[in-house]
Amino acid sequence: MKYLSIIGSTGSIGKQTLDIVKVHPDELTVSALAAGSKNLQDFKEQILEFKPDLISLPTAENLASLKEIMTADQLKGIGCLCGEAGLVAVAEHPQSTVLVTAVVGFLGVTPTLSAIKKGKIIALANKETMVAAGHLVISQAKQYKAAIVPVDSEHSAIFQSLTDSIMRGRTQDEVAKILLTGSGGPFRTWSMEAMKSATISDALKHPNWSMGAKITIDSATLMNKGLEIIEARWLFDISADKIEVVIHPQSILHSAVEFVDGSIVGQMGVPDMRLPIHYALFYPGRVHSSRVPRLSLTDLKELTFEKPDPVRFRCLGLAQAAAGEDDTSACVLNAANEIAVDSFLNGEIKFLEIAETLERVLDEHKPIKLPALEDILECDKWARNQARIVMAARA
Ligand code: NDP
Ligand code: MG
Repeated sequence: MKYLSIIGSTGSIGKQTLDIVKVHPDELTVSALAAGSKNLQDFKEQILEFKPDLISLPTAENLASLKEIMTADQLKGIGCLCGEAGLVAVAEHPQSTVLVTAVVGFLGVTPTLSAIKKGKIIALANKETMVAAGHLVISQAKQYKAAIVPVDSEHSAIFQSLTDSIMRGRTQDEVAKILLTGSGGPFRTWSMEAMKSATISDALKHPNWSMGAKITIDSATLMNKGLEIIEARWLFDISADKIEVVIHPQSILHSAVEFVDGSIVGQMGVPDMRLPIHYALFYPGRVHSSRVPRLSLTDLKELTFEKPDPVRFRCLGLAQAAAGEDDTSACVLNAANEIAVDSFLNGEIKFLEIAETLERVLDEHKPIKLPALEDILECDKWARNQARIVMAARA
């Protein structure tokens, strides 16, 4: 039996994780759940269905609202916490063996590091944690013998393709490059002129995946692919110049590894996040999945591959540059991006202004090499503030 703590249980990844738990009651149990404030009704239903020992919400007011829609009897015996302390307590829950980090954004850093210190398996969806604090996550995971199993579909594909080299500690010698695939997002074929007036709903129309709003916008700017380069660089201890982004509109090959002998090994499947989530939950084993649709190769019409366009998608270049550094550039890029995406989703800036904001914030940043957690927290705060200043100055 695996015991799970899930932070971000009411989001896209959180719900798909619970969908898998539901059909594997003899193998997976939910110990603790944490969610945000937007879906209290869903959270209530999850509590009733999965009966965790511990739950957490962002604020005491959110807890009070939950208690208004649940009876005392329904919450009997369940620890109810709030704030960052609650999030960390859920991540560290003594019974849980696996933490599913399914929150979005920098918020994932502290609870993930806490669970790592307890030696838990981390099923990591939250790429922002690796982007902002990759070297800390990796060094602490080694120190506390905590396995990090990626949930991001590309990284799951790379992990599965690389397992043999990883086991023998030979990735450095054996890997020529990582081929990180991406659909290209909704604007793959749009002209720069059209992208200038792209609306929120245009940007939210992802061709292949149904995901939370933030990652969907990141997929439209290709920042998602940029963040994934940084994530891959830390997860697989591969230098950024060995990671090549390949646009693959059908999202069937989820990524691949080219080895030094010329072999390319990749992982394919339908574009359904339950596949990499299932893999991470059952790692290192494989068990039958009744939830994931099967891929029929003979039904596929075509698989195409192309190079990304760095001119229309400037976020990709910014992330590529940050990925080559061992400093706080990636943390700053990530924080500024979270703020810019939020502003775009609130209708405050235009689509192409996301990249412009990030460029300006990075220009002002004085990077700190191999930052400690305090430096990361400080730079994250600075970049959020700086992004707001830059955007206000443009308006
Ligand atoms: P969603 O926006 O759908 O979900 C985010 C979750 O975090 C929700 O449960 C939300 O709660 C919760 N949350 C927000 N604030 C807090 C808080 N203060 N404390 C605890 N929980 C909080 O995001 P996704 O599921 O799409 O993405 C999650 C992560 O996984 C991201 O980092 C993303 O990049 C990554 N990822 C996602 C993929 C996908 O297919 N969705 C694919 C690959 C990676 P609520 O909404 O109830 O307020
Ligand atoms: Mg991905």
